[in-house]
Amino acid sequence: MSGRLPLFADPVRLASSRFRGSGTLALAAMARLAPSLYGDNGTVEVALHAAMEQGRAVLHGHLKGRLSLQCQRCMEAVSLEVDHAFSLGVIASEDEIPALPPACEPLLNRGEEIALADVFEDELLLLLPIIPLHEPGACQAALPVGSGVETTEDPEQRKKPFADLKKLLSEGKS
Ligand SMILES: [Zn+2]
Repeated sequence: MSGRLPLFADPVRLASSRFRGSGTLALAAMARLAPSLYGDNGTVEVALHAAMEQGRAVLHGHLKGRLSLQCQRCMEAVSLEVDHAFSLGVIASEDEIPALPPACEPLLNRGEEIALADVFEDELLLLLPIIPLHEPGACQAALPVGSGVETTEDPEQRKKPFADLKKLLSEGKS
């Protein structure tokens, strides 16, 4: 991680000092996220500010960038715009979860230093769609027969992908 963010930090200490910082995270460096990406070139911009709120350490984070995923219908790249803010309330035990403000997700921490890159990676993983797909109309592939989804295309149009497939197969043999 580059920028003005420490690699490791004690979140309560960050909050006490009202830490503010930002940086850049390389997608390829995120070992848990990278396998879900169609291409792991690129970076996401990250920002963090920490504060004590009602006696509790809270980390406010922001992520901005673009992830490239693989459409599971046409197998081509589909991009996911990320512009995501999140808040994490530091708790020492799960008993404290009900006391968190509604906008805060819990961050279990008992004074140990945490890897800030992991915090951002966790948030990115939560943003991934279960099945990445292009928007209807933007996808290269026709809908599978019997999918139950009606299209306005005429049947002649719908046959075209099979012609392309035939062409691809013959090219593959040469
Ligand atoms: Zn697609």
